[in-house]
Amino acid sequence: MMNAAYVYLQIYRLFDDVTPVRADCGKLCNKACCKGDDSGMLLFPGEEEVFKLLNPDGIRVEKTNLQYEFEGKKHTVSLAVCDGTCDRFQRPLACRIFPLTPYLSKDGSMEIIIDPRGKGICPMAKALLLEDFDGAFVRNVRRAFTLLMKNARFGAFMKMYSEYIDEFGKFYD
Ligand code: SF4
Ligand code: SF4
Repeated sequence: MMNAAYVYLQIYRLFDDVTPVRADCGKLCNKACCKGDDSGMLLFPGEEEVFKLLNPDGIRVEKTNLQYEFEGKKHTVSLAVCDGTCDRFQRPLACRIFPLTPYLSKDGSMEIIIDPRGKGICPMAKALLLEDFDGAFVRNVRRAFTLLMKNARFGAFMKMYSEYIDEFGKFYD
């Protein structure tokens, strides 16, 4: 992806002042989403370039075993592993949009949904419907992924990612 770091840094700004709900939801749950001891947050295609550039304290990038194919080549998805104390202006996109996620429906259209992976962690993901989230937040998540979906490699990633999300959805439906 050309200039991927630049694209993501622009997208990050959509979430500097806009959060899932107007209140500080971290007070509800003592920031449960930053305390996971499992794996970290998946990085979207090319997003690892941001972390090469910023090299923020407390976040390291690792490879996952998730792969997608684009133009005959396999691409491996990266993961940001953190110690739960990042500078919020340097957090990855997945953290900015949590507990929402983009999702490609069977007809190939992009939707924004509550992330089934969040339902075991996040009280908002468990209790709220999409329309309960701050409208500006949902709009900005949609804007971010509408923009990213213009890139064909991102589309290839989204197909794999949506199947991956489906696997989690089965446990929570
Ligand atoms: S787990 Fe949910 S409610 Fe808690 S800080 Fe994270 S997004 Fe907010
Ligand atoms: S990178 Fe930051 S926002 Fe994301 S889970 Fe870690 S501490 Fe939380």
